[in-house]
Amino acid sequence: MGKDMVIAIDGPAASGKSTTAKLVAQRLGYLYIDTGAMYRAMALKAFLAKISLSDINAVAKMVEATVIDQKPGPDGVQTFLDGRDVSLEIRTPEMSLAASDISTISIVRKRLVKLQQEMGRQGGVVMEGRDITTVVFPDAQIKVFMKASISQRAKRRLEELKGKGIDCSLGELEEQIAERDSQDSQRADSPLTCTPDSLVIDTSDLSIEQQAEKVLEAVRQKAGMA
Ligand code: C5P
Repeated sequence: MGKDMVIAIDGPAASGKSTTAKLVAQRLGYLYIDTGAMYRAMALKAFLAKISLSDINAVAKMVEATVIDQKPGPDGVQTFLDGRDVSLEIRTPEMSLAASDISTISIVRKRLVKLQQEMGRQGGVVMEGRDITTVVFPDAQIKVFMKASISQRAKRRLEELKGKGIDCSLGELEEQIAERDSQDSQRADSPLTCTPDSLVIDTSDLSIEQQAEKVLEAVRQKAGMA
């Protein structure tokens, strides 16, 4: 059904975007693209190369010389930084905040948005992030905004990190998520916003299956199969 659609999903940190997007992509045989992982990979590169984010020339040079790629993997998607698999390394709470910091820089966004548009050009993709419905694919056939209470989101993220062997406390996570929410929705370039034509899904009390079903229902309707 709808083989060439672009399904764009935005929402704040840990709102259920990734799990839902992965499941929807799997059900439809679509490609899943995690744009947050790309900002995380860029942040990791700056961190490893000790590049200060206030040195715009150095950031521009780094962005120019960086290759970020994603391939379908056992966990939905694998992210490569200059050919190296960094899928696990980019998941630490430090990299979450570093990604939020680097994503405020327009030169970084410009490069990654272009890459994401190329990746989704042919359709058949589920792409999730913060600016997919507004900037990357404003004309996507399906636009979704996912949200959930902050306590629920922190709980989910804690479980996810535990599963990856990363240690963190619930309180710490709540604080970090709140900090990212505020930075991501208040930045000047491409702030996180819910467009009027997005399907809003509050995932606080929904199972992953129920979340995915809401998106799939919208896809069926669009494809005229409902
Ligand atoms: O989705 P995830 O939490 O992995 O994203 C990490 C950070 O990358 C976000 O907090 C946000 O600042 C940034 N990001 C963005 N635009 C996107 C995806 C992520 O600015 N499309």
